[in-house]
Amino acid sequence: MLLDQLSILIAIGFSSASLGLTLFMMWIVGRGEAHLLSWSLALAFILLGVAFFGSVVENYNATFLLVSFLLLVVGFGLLYIGSATFCSGKAGWLSAMALVGLGGISITAAFALGYSGIGTMAGNVLLGALMLANAHQYWSARAESPLLMTANAALYLIVSVSFMLCGYALIHEGQYILTAKPSNWAEDINSIVVIAGLTGIGTLSLTLNQARIANRHKREAMTDALTGLLNRRALLQNPSNTVPAGTALVAMDLDYFKKINDRYGHDCGDQALKAFAELIRANIRPTDLAARMGGEEFCIVVSDSNQRAPMTIAERIREQVEAMTISTAAGPVRTTVSAGISYASGDETLQSLLIRADEALYEAKSEGRNRVRTSDLNGLAA
Ligand code: GH3
Ligand code: MG
Ligand code: MG
Repeated sequence: MLLDQLSILIAIGFSSASLGLTLFMMWIVGRGEAHLLSWSLALAFILLGVAFFGSVVENYNATFLLVSFLLLVVGFGLLYIGSATFCSGKAGWLSAMALVGLGGISITAAFALGYSGIGTMAGNVLLGALMLANAHQYWSARAESPLLMTANAALYLIVSVSFMLCGYALIHEGQYILTAKPSNWAEDINSIVVIAGLTGIGTLSLTLNQARIANRHKREAMTDALTGLLNRRALLQNPSNTVPAGTALVAMDLDYFKKINDRYGHDCGDQALKAFAELIRANIRPTDLAARMGGEEFCIVVSDSNQRAPMTIAERIREQVEAMTISTAAGPVRTTVSAGISYASGDETLQSLLIRADEALYEAKSEGRNRVRTSDLNGLAA
């Protein structure tokens, strides 16, 4: 072998220590995400396990070998808990503890009865099973980030197979009782796979974690905090992008909303805005977009509409708002809404569609409110 076992184990130890420290720092400075703590604790156990394993390379000691397996099993179990939390939002404590507990007892029993070879086989198979469980988590969650999650699942799978092979090699050689640390082709492969796998898994896990944070920030920046609808920035993020003919925009503004705030208070005003946003959500199709443009102004982008659809949606919302009583802490609140509709007859930017819908909305307001007006009747006739 190019490198001796001890050097590889020291490399694995350093790799685990620096990765564990990085994850621990991220846990401290981040939002206290549980998977980061599980992973950093996992690496602490793995580091200790590797240290005990390293100690039996020169001087074989069955107890140290057993302790090494138990530490690694706990470490791999914590790794699984972190992966399950990260991938599915559920820590999977029960399955992890069952595997770690029952497995740990079996290994200890085998060592206690003097069958250190059988204990080592069981230890390797258990470590392989825990790695397989990690692989399964990433494979099941791969929709979030197909390439990175599949790559991480593949790395866990490869590491899993390398541990299983260590168990197989001992069975194959009939080594039921050990007198020295196991040393065979499978152990050599395992050392190399573990150091490459651990580095790859660490890098991919950190990248996935950062990608998720970036996506969350992006989503938050595009979402209106009060109503959960898109915000103005999200809707108009590419001002030069055009929407195809057949797209319509419904601009809506609650009537005399200032009076609601003045009479019932700002909190009740907020509740009315939330109720209105819910009503919009219930009235649009999954292909339509709804946004809060600011204050008590909202809009809906109706995609690929037939000419009647936007008017039907706007009228329905107007009628429902008129009929709705919002129960708030300050008492029942009622309001009405005015709307303006514009239709894209050729390719047109959303910004220009919005300006025309606002003109129609202004008309609806000046004609007495609680009504829907259309910006260009040409669009309707087309
Ligand atoms: P109009 O029928 O002409 O639209 O009258 P209006 O009172 O609805 O319009 P105006 O623009 O005069 O007032 C809008 C009010 O919306 C003023 C502001 O206090 C309120 N508002 C804006 N944003 C929020 C918010 O986030 N929460 C609450 N509660 N009120 C808000
Ligand atoms: Mg208003
Ligand atoms: Mg307004």
